[in-house]
Amino acid sequence: MTTTATLAHGPYPYPSTVIKMYIGPMFSSKSTLLVMTARRLEAAGCPYLLLSSRMDTRPGEEVVATHSGMRVECRHVQCLMEEVPLEGVYVHTIMLDESQFTDAANDLLPFALKCVRGGHCQELILVGLDSTFDRKTWPWVTELAPYARKIKKLSALCSVCHQPANASALRNQQDVERARESGSSVLVGTANEYMAVCNRCHDLQSRLAFQNKPATI
Ligand SMILES: [Zn+2]
Repeated sequence: MTTTATLAHGPYPYPSTVIKMYIGPMFSSKSTLLVMTARRLEAAGCPYLLLSSRMDTRPGEEVVATHSGMRVECRHVQCLMEEVPLEGVYVHTIMLDESQFTDAANDLLPFALKCVRGGHCQELILVGLDSTFDRKTWPWVTELAPYARKIKKLSALCSVCHQPANASALRNQQDVERARESGSSVLVGTANEYMAVCNRCHDLQSRLAFQNKPATI
């Protein structure tokens, strides 16, 4: 369960809350990390809260799912401060998926500080993309980094050259042009519209505008 009523720790604050950040491109096993953490907490009987920040508000299942089919219930939120009241809540771990979709300065940071100052959890785990498809840093990374005890960058495999990938890119050049014309770095769609790429292939995509074709290296 994502919000268990059983508070094994007891209804009192944790003495210190550690903030951990896991950043990385698409397909870098960020969801797998969350699902495995949730299952480990469940096995130990530790209460936790699994949240996912969603820009896409279309109704659907509220789960964090991996590409291999593992899934855990979560709660979709758009405004943490308004939708996740922490008064009287003390859980071992609070996790947030898709942290890049939060209002970092006005919502995620105040929420994180509220967790810390109120001792509402032992660990606050924040997971999300670190950069947009055109490699601009998502604000949540720079806003929260000064408060984090641990920051780990996960990597994927480049969809083009199969070397370690550190960036995300849109598969279809038309989507890139659509996003640039709209002035937005955000395209709400399926993960299939994105791919993980290394720096070299990202540069090649930008220059050559390839569409799902192996780059000539
Ligand atoms: Zn590559």
